[in-house]
Amino acid sequence: MNRRSFAQSVGSAVILSAIPGSSALTQDSAAPKTSKVMAIAAHPGDGMFTMGAVLAKQIERGGAGVLLSLSLGERGAPKDIPLQQYGAMQRTATENAVRLIGAEAIFLDYPDAEIPFNEESSLRVCDTIREQRPEAVVTHWSGSWHKDHQNCHLIVRDAIFYAGLETLAREHPAHAVSKIFYAENWEDAANFVPDTYISIDPVYEKWMQACDFYPMWRGQTGFFRYNDYYSSLSVMRGCLSGSRHAVALMSDINQRSQRLQSL
Ligand SMILES: [Zn+2]
Repeated sequence: MNRRSFAQSVGSAVILSAIPGSSALTQDSAAPKTSKVMAIAAHPGDGMFTMGAVLAKQIERGGAGVLLSLSLGERGAPKDIPLQQYGAMQRTATENAVRLIGAEAIFLDYPDAEIPFNEESSLRVCDTIREQRPEAVVTHWSGSWHKDHQNCHLIVRDAIFYAGLETLAREHPAHAVSKIFYAENWEDAANFVPDTYISIDPVYEKWMQACDFYPMWRGQTGFFRYNDYYSSLSVMRGCLSGSRHAVALMSDINQRSQRLQSL
């Protein structure tokens, strides 16, 4: 393999135009159906900056997208804005952002920095998954320094297990999520190894506008240059996967086996 063919295939990574529905996995299905994707984030900014482009692309391809945020991310407030007011600003920014990309937003009310990993939080997320019935979930990778992100990863793992458990009676019937992906996040970078690339060219500008609803995107609430980081990351991922802008995801290790008729 020469350097050009390596770049075109990104090693053994998969390059997708969107996350296909589970029907795409059956050999005698017709054209792959685009699925509903649910992004589950600890804080609204993580949801839009690291998972929003995937939702936007999914919707552009005829699928659906929903963003579940476990908190309002209110502790990212600058000194001159009270936490409650900043939480409301984060909620408004998210509602505007999801409206722009055609998705839906759901918020749980855990306090930022105190999102608990326990049966109660896992079952609440399970109930939301059962209600929304997504085919794929995108969430935080476990290799994070942030305890809320780590807990979100663990909550989602258990919530997906509970959601698919037929013998667990809840308000809504069981629902099996067929694919789990982890998003590329500057705070969750330890041992993050992407294997799935999604071109986001048709939705890039819209996603940038959606992110711009958040004051933190432009560095107004802290030191980190979110806009520079995530816009240039999408260019770098595009270089590796043959498009102008792309998002790289890491698939759950349990779904990496492939069933082929031939090579
Ligand atoms: Zn966060």
